[in-house]
Amino acid sequence: MSKLVIGNWKMNPESVEDAVTLANIVAAAPRVSGVDIGVAPPTIALAAVGAALAGSHVAVFAQDVHWEEKGAYTAGTSVAMLKGNAVGSIVGHSEVRRDLGDDDVRVSKKLARAIGAGLRVVLCVGESETQFLAGQAESVLAKQIAADTSPLTAARDKAGGLVVAYEPIWAIGTGRPATAQHATMAASVIRRALERAGLPGATLILYGGSVTAANAAEFAGAQGIDGALVGGASLRADEFANIVRAFA
Ligand code: PEP
Repeated sequence: MSKLVIGNWKMNPESVEDAVTLANIVAAAPRVSGVDIGVAPPTIALAAVGAALAGSHVAVFAQDVHWEEKGAYTAGTSVAMLKGNAVGSIVGHSEVRRDLGDDDVRVSKKLARAIGAGLRVVLCVGESETQFLAGQAESVLAKQIAADTSPLTAARDKAGGLVVAYEPIWAIGTGRPATAQHATMAASVIRRALERAGLPGATLILYGGSVTAANAAEFAGAQGIDGALVGGASLRADEFANIVRAFA
């Protein structure tokens, strides 16, 4: 199975024009055999980046999606709106949980809506620093996977689109990545929780949290890790290309 490396651009770059420029530079890098790549631009740039990357080897993901189909949900983006612009969406990113009020119930509804619509979903899970220091990472991850995937029963046959990103909150944007050993432990907890939830064993598990070109090889070599979700370092196309190469 191919590895997967996705750049989460968050609230960057500053303009739609700059997003299209960055997307074109990412797509111009030589394709790396055995590694699929994706970018997740901000919502306002999704259509333009989607158009710029149409027919390229770079997949486009949204950073979030609403759980309702349509209607009076100000600021929402529906799965129907993503169709044609993106192959899927990140769901449950810790910054969305922190800033926009997502909890496991909302995340589970978003996941079910997107998977049910045939979109790929990059479900983000991960423990806080306090939970990490208290030795609770394993139980937190098991609980999150169980809660977030709980409504997938009806859509289980479509859950092949599910990707899980293990993103310890304390490692995101801090320059303090987890160790490969910790990521391997997390991946195995996540894999077991997915099995308990009756979800296919083919789910890719990515590591995210301060991945750079300098440390990517460590995670590429970590057992159970199938790729990376990259924030800050994905805004520099050559750095991103080097991270992708590390997973080859
Ligand atoms: C992220 O936000 O998904 C992320 C992994 O960020 P960073 O790489 O900047 O830590």
